[in-house]
Amino acid sequence: QSQEVSQARIDYHVALQALQEHGTRMVCSGKMHTDRICRFDYLCYCSEAEEFVFFHSNSSVMLPNLGSRRFQPALLDLSSVEDHNTQYFNFLELPAAALKFMPKPVFVPDVTLILNRFNPDNLMHVFHDDLLPAFYTMQQYSDLNDEARLVFMEGWGEGPHFDLYRLLSSKQPLLKEQLRNFGKLMCFTKSYVGLSKMTTWYQYGFVQPQGPKANILVSGNEIRQFARALMEKMNITKVDEPERDGGSAEDEKEKEKKDEYIVVFSRSTTRLILNEAELIMALAQEFEMRVVTVSLEEQSFPSIVQVISGASMLVSMHGAQLITSLFLPRGAVVVELFPFAVNPEQYTPYKTLASLPGMDLHYVSWRNMKEENTVTHPDRPWEQGGIAHLEKDEQVRILASKDVPRHLCCRNPEWLFRIYQDTLVDIPSFLEVLKEAMKARPNLKKTKIPWNLKYLKVREVKYEVWIQEQGENTYMPYILPQQNYTFSENIKPFTTYLVWVRCIFSKNLLGPFADVLMCRT
Ligand code: UDP
Repeated sequence: QSQEVSQARIDYHVALQALQEHGTRMVCSGKMHTDRICRFDYLCYCSEAEEFVFFHSNSSVMLPNLGSRRFQPALLDLSSVEDHNTQYFNFLELPAAALKFMPKPVFVPDVTLILNRFNPDNLMHVFHDDLLPAFYTMQQYSDLNDEARLVFMEGWGEGPHFDLYRLLSSKQPLLKEQLRNFGKLMCFTKSYVGLSKMTTWYQYGFVQPQGPKANILVSGNEIRQFARALMEKMNITKVDEPERDGGSAEDEKEKEKKDEYIVVFSRSTTRLILNEAELIMALAQEFEMRVVTVSLEEQSFPSIVQVISGASMLVSMHGAQLITSLFLPRGAVVVELFPFAVNPEQYTPYKTLASLPGMDLHYVSWRNMKEENTVTHPDRPWEQGGIAHLEKDEQVRILASKDVPRHLCCRNPEWLFRIYQDTLVDIPSFLEVLKEAMKARPNLKKTKIPWNLKYLKVREVKYEVWIQEQGENTYMPYILPQQNYTFSENIKPFTTYLVWVRCIFSKNLLGPFADVLMCRT
């Protein structure tokens, strides 16, 4: 590793002299520790003491100079999670003259962003707490470019999603444990410390029950630009709309239908959907679409993103994997399933994401209301929702409860017990919820806008529709201004109807009727 931070690009003696003469310089933005990001020249790190060091000289700068208030409680939050007492940043102070008696510093020439990842094992946290904030912190400071070095100080190992962090810059990110490889004293020539919280939308319930942040400052536009940038780095080509060549209307119809599909994101170890195959069949039948499954255990992350970025609908149990809905195309539907006794209204990181202005996603939740369809795991370890370690009457109370009461993060046993249940999804109630939601968004099932319409400058388009009951020799004619319409008048149940549709341009220019459609009620 130590070769990577090459000493060749900076003149060691010039750097050492600058540090000795000028000491450390710090200028920060933000009024409070919760909104502060600091820029440093010659911030140093003592790996033995595991402390950052600020060297004072005649020309060192420390803005803000908070005196002892710097420790009430800290200079700044090192992660994007607000005011978390395990995530504070501070430094020790020494006179620059002390350098004479210290180990020779190793200089890091790269412009460095120093931060804490909050929970790099969990995909939702990776995106919400680390990747998005780091991406936009880097956009805030022009020298934090593709050549920037990221340093993760939370002290964890790489974790399962380290490849995602690698996408933020062309340089390998450094972990805290690797810093000792650079010697006892290392000095960052130029560094930024802290993360912007501007893009976060959710608070995890450390002081009040979890929910959307009080003042959300990010919109779908920024989320989507981030998603696009990440996809480019992963070499994923996004198919926003199906390619349109000069093919016939029939080809187009075929292509569009083939292109539309539903993704079921499955979890293979906990919080299972017990009848996944049945659910998939029901979805395929209801929407007349292909249904594909993905899982973090079976596929690479880029291949999952590739699939999701073209999907019309994403169906999944509540869980971190649903953060991938930020890669869905506009107009797609997010369907989040909740286990028994878990109220969807109280756990809304993905609902909030989907509902950000400009995100243009449709969010639907389904909750298992049938206790007989849940499979609990009382004997598992507490962190997977086991309750065997609790007092007997507490166990009895939890087992009898049909609704997890509001609670704080992160070890509420009733919450963990319920959220780690496996669920047999009741298909009729699931489809009912979906159909209800689709009424508000009717164009998913079939979008049949005439393919040639967008090449024409037409002010007004209407649709003439003829409906004929099979076997009868009369038909009912309609002229409609909209592309979606539900016929209910004079429509009988269990009957086959033949339907013809044609366009009327600018009041009187008639197009040809499309091929007859057969509909069964
Ligand atoms: N995870 C997974 N499959 C599973 C269970 C978990 O891929 O069967 C992943 C999940 O996406 C997350 C991490 O493991 O990134 C931690 O999962 P956990 O259930 O603890 O958190 P949650 O999904 O509830 O946020």
